[in-house]
Amino acid sequence: MSKSKTSNKEPAAPGILVILSAPSGCGKTTIVDRLLKRHLDWLRSISMTTRQPRLGEKNGVDYFFVTPKQFAEAEQNGDLLESAAVFDHVYGTPKSFILDSLKKGKNILMAIDVQGAKKTKKAMGKSARILTLFILPPSVKVLRERLEGRKTESPEEIQRRIEIAQDEIKEASFYDNTVVNQNLEETVHEIEDLIEKFQKG
Ligand code: 5GP
Repeated sequence: MSKSKTSNKEPAAPGILVILSAPSGCGKTTIVDRLLKRHLDWLRSISMTTRQPRLGEKNGVDYFFVTPKQFAEAEQNGDLLESAAVFDHVYGTPKSFILDSLKKGKNILMAIDVQGAKKTKKAMGKSARILTLFILPPSVKVLRERLEGRKTESPEEIQRRIEIAQDEIKEASFYDNTVVNQNLEETVHEIEDLIEKFQKG
């Protein structure tokens, strides 16, 4: 029996771009981490930001942490697919990684805010298959408890994020699907099913 060989040909189907948005504290990062552990061939878009790393966050893994000057240069050079001011900082998506990975047939998970999701859809046009998912908290009360539990923001900052979350939730209808993160495992499975269905469709 002949052994399979590695082919140099382009894969038949380009990957899909999955945009996940959620108010701060909805578990988006944990969900993305779980999905990547279960699908070793999927990739995560690593954003660039001017905010400081939180405890445990690593440069080049969680974000590319850059200075405002470096960010402005990346923007001027056209290196970002989209960028947006979120809270007091700017965030942006490096473009070449997304385009190259999709071309290689890789699925990419992109956790960005609502403005970024809209800009990305516009920038990519019909050049990529994009699935947009919005993750909702079970309730605003639960969201507040989660934000308080992670102990990374001051009470004033938590209040501000809650108010922003309420505005963001109003934008959920822009997305292809919404998923309520009541239970982490179930949410991960629900998202996997949605991605699989979209990929087949
Ligand atoms: P955090 O500072 O809590 O990691 O993220 C704050 C917000 O910025 C989140 O809603 C997150 O999804 C969003 N965000 C992260 N990276 C990007 C990006 O590259 N572009 C945009 N538009 N938003 C981003």
